[in-house]
Amino acid sequence: MKDSGVASALPPGSTIGIIGGGQLGRMAAIAAARLGYRTHVYCPETDSPASHVAATTTVADYNDLDQLTAFAKSVDVVTFEFENIPVASVLHLSQSVAVRPSARVLEIAQDRSNEKRFFNGLGIGTAPWRDVLSADDLKTAVAALGRPSVLKTARMGYDGKGQIKIEADTDLDQAWADLNTDKAVLEGFVTFTGELSVIIARGLNGDSRCFDPVWNVHTRHILDTSTVPAPITPAQERSAIDIATRAAQALDLVGLLAVEMFLDQSGALLVNEMAPRPHNSGHWTIDACVTDQFEQFVRAVCGLPLGDPARHCDAVMTNLIGDDIERWRDILNKPNAKLHLYGKTEAREGRKMGHVTEVKPRSP
Ligand code: AMP
Repeated sequence: MKDSGVASALPPGSTIGIIGGGQLGRMAAIAAARLGYRTHVYCPETDSPASHVAATTTVADYNDLDQLTAFAKSVDVVTFEFENIPVASVLHLSQSVAVRPSARVLEIAQDRSNEKRFFNGLGIGTAPWRDVLSADDLKTAVAALGRPSVLKTARMGYDGKGQIKIEADTDLDQAWADLNTDKAVLEGFVTFTGELSVIIARGLNGDSRCFDPVWNVHTRHILDTSTVPAPITPAQERSAIDIATRAAQALDLVGLLAVEMFLDQSGALLVNEMAPRPHNSGHWTIDACVTDQFEQFVRAVCGLPLGDPARHCDAVMTNLIGDDIERWRDILNKPNAKLHLYGKTEAREGRKMGHVTEVKPRSP
């Protein structure tokens, strides 16, 4: 084992293994390169966004133990840029190389039921919810939580995929059949006044730093804009940061954690979900913070001191989804706008092709 997880920093020149080849891995690899690290990406897709900027890429299945072994031997630490990796593969890697965050964090974060149980266990509120393993469970859960409510697959759901809204006239047998899963949760519908997220970094020595809470607007279940400062009260801001801090500590996190929350009509925060990696709602930090989320991620994973997450600008980040990418020339002509493209060739509907961050001087 190369690293027992003791608080020793990996020096620049070391190689960071990144599982997953999407835009989060791409931007993490760019940040790693800025600090003098090499990156080795592992993902099943060819021509992935991260592979364009990483020093090395292995294209292989997440279950391929031989390839995972070879990957572990070629890197100094392993992290991941998305959470739907088999836990067994991460445990396999953990036998020969430090994996940060740990397999336990992944196990909680990749299952909505585990995730909600985890937050509720810390006394942190979520929407009311029930485990659903069958159509009968769904009927019992709907009787308890009422309509509307939201049925979600426990695993592998993202951007609204794997979700069915249970309306007044929804047939529950049909909804269960349509979801096509063996494990789900039913959530009570939250009539929220807004959605927030907080991204926290936690280092090997337990030190943690939070970025400013962000105000997120979703369109058709996909993040559309993230705005800072968020239009919330100082007490709500403290509460959002406190939730993220307690979660990161309880997970013994090394890396980054994004916590998404609803602001309900009473002004209380309810956690929706978390992701133990850089997050779309943190892209604004590249252009508006002293240390951005990707550099902070690299620092945490490599055991370096965390950087200053202070925000020096106000910012609005807008995702460029599908055909939105055709606006790239206009965006380049806009003052105060920073364009970030992910190198994806095919602009499919709903696909995140890039983002733009508009900055303006920091409000007092
Ligand atoms: P998720 O995949 O859980 O992040 O859900 C995607 C989006 O669907 C959220 O950002 C919300 O806008 C909406 N949503 C999810 N769950 C609920 C809920 N229980 N009540 C109301 N809206 C929800």
